[in-house]
Amino acid sequence: MENVMSLFKFSTHIDDLIAQAKTENALSRKDIIELLKMPGEHSLDLFAAADAVRKEQVGDEIFLRGIIEFSNYCERNCLYCGLRRGNRKLSRYRMTEDEIIAAARQIKDLHIPTIVLQSGEDSFYSAEIICKIIERIRVETGLIITLSIGERSLADYQSFQKAGAHRYLLKHETTSVDIYKYLRPGCKFENRIQCLNTLKILGFETGTGTMVGLPGQTPEILADDLLLMKELDADMLGIGPFIAHPDTPLAGLENDAFELTLRVLALARLITRNTNIPATTAMGTIHPLGRIQALRAGANVVMPDFTPEIYKNRYDIYPGRADAGGAAEIMANLQKDYASIGRSISYSTGYRKIKLHS
Ligand code: SAH
Ligand code: SF4
Repeated sequence: MENVMSLFKFSTHIDDLIAQAKTENALSRKDIIELLKMPGEHSLDLFAAADAVRKEQVGDEIFLRGIIEFSNYCERNCLYCGLRRGNRKLSRYRMTEDEIIAAARQIKDLHIPTIVLQSGEDSFYSAEIICKIIERIRVETGLIITLSIGERSLADYQSFQKAGAHRYLLKHETTSVDIYKYLRPGCKFENRIQCLNTLKILGFETGTGTMVGLPGQTPEILADDLLLMKELDADMLGIGPFIAHPDTPLAGLENDAFELTLRVLALARLITRNTNIPATTAMGTIHPLGRIQALRAGANVVMPDFTPEIYKNRYDIYPGRADAGGAAEIMANLQKDYASIGRSISYSTGYRKIKLHS
């Protein structure tokens, strides 16, 4: 009898925590850890609370960001990533300026208002080249430009902004300094955070985020990840499951973080309220309904991949990436999926809070 009573009390306690998270913004580190560790039967309540806060704070529309992965060269050697410089099996490519502009036009033609330019850390693209690309996209398409090209100097970030880039994605990946050092040889966690602070100060809409399911990661570390997202006041949060790549030192690790990733995503919505949170391609890769489930657990953004077909397969960060096929096919699939959950696509710019251009 006593056991039943304590189980009942625990269950009510979890219900109370979820209710608290839904109505106010005051989960402690201990509360977050409890919600990350709670038994599976409470998950749906957590997702429903995050879904309700998503609806109240950012509405039912799904913002699209068209992504172009313009180079798979990388000077870093992150243990988790297929683009790491040590992966000799990968056939490398760099898109020319004209190819990038052509892909941007395709995004513009589909009425998607924002573009994300992503690559490995590839110094072939000097600040000058990146600025030229930014200026051409701005003048020739008017798209809102997001960069995701890694750690650069203050002077580079300043020049990107002057050239007309509005947003920057740089996931902090993990708040555990030990795991960071192990997974990103030669890189410093403090430098990543400094870059994020610089971007924020310069006025970029700034995105950070984490991978879930990394070796050595604990609920305590994930709670710190969530608190850091809040502390940085990041505008966008990329939260995706780690997926082991066969040609990396982490080959063969289990890809079993789907449910935990949904929990982290739901908590990110509950803690940060009005941020833009993508249903990541990695979610769609690890589970056939992954992106839809993410959209029902707090996410409000999707980033369809418009990298030209000849290059797409070679942007092999992790294996089996979703979003194969051409632009029309991708858009038709997205529209069908969203209608099935009562959501629609927004063609506005999707800024956080202040909607400057919509
Ligand atoms: N080079 C840039 C941008 C490209 S990598 C950078 O590192 O910031 C983009 C994202 O891919 C990274 O932030 C990382 O979180 C994610 N990623 C890399 N390898 C992954 C893997 N094996 N599984 C899931 N996500 C991965
Ligand atoms: Fe390079 Fe980014 Fe991959 Fe690290 S995660 S190897 S920096 S592309």
